[in-house]
Amino acid sequence: MAGAYGQPGERIHGRVPTTRLAPSPTGALHLGNARTFLVNWAMARAAGWRVVLRIEDLDTPRNKPGALAQAIEDLSWLGMDWDQGPIVQSADLGPHRAALEALAASGLAYPSELSRAQIEAVASAPQENAGAHEVYFPASLRPALGPRRVEDERTNWRLVVPERGVEFVDLFAGPQRHRPCDTVGDFVIWTSRGQPSYQLAVVVDDFRQGVTHVVRGDDLLESTARQVLLHEALGLSPTPVYGHLPLVRGPDGKRLAKRHGDTRLSRYRAAGVAAERVIGLCGFWCGLATRRTLMSAAEFRQGLNPATIPRHDIIMSPEDEQWLLDR
Ligand code: GLU
Repeated sequence: MAGAYGQPGERIHGRVPTTRLAPSPTGALHLGNARTFLVNWAMARAAGWRVVLRIEDLDTPRNKPGALAQAIEDLSWLGMDWDQGPIVQSADLGPHRAALEALAASGLAYPSELSRAQIEAVASAPQENAGAHEVYFPASLRPALGPRRVEDERTNWRLVVPERGVEFVDLFAGPQRHRPCDTVGDFVIWTSRGQPSYQLAVVVDDFRQGVTHVVRGDDLLESTARQVLLHEALGLSPTPVYGHLPLVRGPDGKRLAKRHGDTRLSRYRAAGVAAERVIGLCGFWCGLATRRTLMSAAEFRQGLNPATIPRHDIIMSPEDEQWLLDR
């Protein structure tokens, strides 16, 4: 597939093409994560992108001890490698703080102490796409806008979300048009824990790590629109090229999770399943083969054609599980 998304060594707006593998140490990597990471890694290696391993550990309450080391072990077991990292997100929050200050100084961010209940009382209809943890924050709840200084880091700060749509063309999902102003409103960019939110952290890190290509699950498509707004508000252009892959789901159509049994990579590894079996299953899911076969990471890389990855969600079947355990 070399050349499908750039020639080796080709520069994008003068930048070395770069992608990132960005696991969160909030739990063990499962088969769905393996599939997304393998595609990301294979595209990078085929097209000559630099690969950064970034550990996204800012969701502190959900971080699990040992998960960081295990993610690295899992990725290595599958034969993936990287050129830089692991870079641990929490190690240096200076650039994120500087970004918050810049947004505040230009009047594009403001502190808000309103509780969830207070916000919900105003934004009566729950917004479909706001996400499980977020409530729609209407412009009517904004304080008077204007330049500010960040005096209190221990409060939520929100972005002034413009009243317009955000458009981008996704490598897998095609042309996109989202309206964060209608789905989430002024979203949180800094939290009362004194840390950037996921959205701000990703944008600042992608920029400072020179990331030109982002490949991840399509549960983040809606977030991407917010990230594009943040790139623009911070004057960080161009935005990366985005590719969002359909998710791997359980037989009930819900995204792969504990309820579908234990699909953690560490479990298969401990049970003596060869990495080639897991990679072969991912290859089968990605249209590299018409049946499940053993496959090395190098074979996956050589065989992957991003253009023919199925554009629909993958349902993990009992036959898939059988193939893995069928030694
Ligand atoms: N750390 C996120 C995850 O594990 C990925 C975020 C991203 O790719 O921007 O789901």
